[in-house]
Amino acid sequence: MNPKIKNLPKIELHRHLEGSIPIPLVMEWSKKYNLPLSHDMQVKNPMPLGPVLERLFYQQRCFQNIESVETLTYEVLKDIASDNIKLIELRFSPSFMAEPKNLSFDSIMEATLAAKERAQKDFGIEVGFILISSRDYGIEACEETINLAIQWKKEIIGVDLAGNETEHPPELFEKPFQRAHTEGLNITTHSGEVSNPHHISTSIHKLKALRIGHGVQAIQDPKVIQDLIKYKIPLELCPTSNLMTQAISKIELHPLKKLMNAGVLVTISSDDPTLFGTTLSQEYDIAIHHLGLSLDQIQKTILTSFHHSFSSDEQKKRAWKKYFKYLEK
Ligand SMILES: [Zn+2]
Repeated sequence: MNPKIKNLPKIELHRHLEGSIPIPLVMEWSKKYNLPLSHDMQVKNPMPLGPVLERLFYQQRCFQNIESVETLTYEVLKDIASDNIKLIELRFSPSFMAEPKNLSFDSIMEATLAAKERAQKDFGIEVGFILISSRDYGIEACEETINLAIQWKKEIIGVDLAGNETEHPPELFEKPFQRAHTEGLNITTHSGEVSNPHHISTSIHKLKALRIGHGVQAIQDPKVIQDLIKYKIPLELCPTSNLMTQAISKIELHPLKKLMNAGVLVTISSDDPTLFGTTLSQEYDIAIHHLGLSLDQIQKTILTSFHHSFSSDEQKKRAWKKYFKYLEK
């Protein structure tokens, strides 16, 4: 790894807390609570999205009590800071985290926020949380997550919709997401990852998405590309994840550079770094060595991430002054 890339101050917009727990901690926590382990904790070869998500089970199971939520959130942020990520938008699904031990949503919010305060102080990073509603839990659970997000809206920076988009198309979630929009919450949605590209336009128009998670399939439809350009909607692209979920068949065929050249705003993230055995630095390295980006173009994606970050103005101002002023050229 080029030390220049590792040392570069970074911004990450698309990263799941539940997919970021370092493997040694998953092992330690599993041992502590006597939970059997499997060799299949990571995705090392491309496979459909369904089995990929099933492998999150071992990380999900670590959330055994509220203490583990606080400790693991802090450890994940420590790992993030060690990759020189200075502004991080970390997302999690309260329903998914609560599931193993039926933890209360409010206690999950309190624990993650306490960890955030501690990590910001200890590591000098700016942290914002995005709450995820998973399509697979259904519309009622989505309403519940949006209610929680509205209740905690001063403490979080946005909401997201994730899960199987082919079986649960975006229009099903229009009502709760319109409500989130009316309440002033920023919205990003996983869309057009391995599914039909027209879902991306539906997410922009009906769910009021300001950014699109992945959106790799936009490359198949010029009308969708036009929408992304016209409404200035950045894509949160995650090259390794996109390869592992079979959104693309070969890393060299990733459309990041083509989309960038067409005028689409693109950003780079790691998605679930533990699950996919990657880091944000490694994703930058792949973008340079396999997708043909220059270091200048990497910096352009960092600038796009900054301008389209949902973080508060104070957080962005602080991060800019401390770490990103050099991009002003
Ligand atoms: Zn994701």
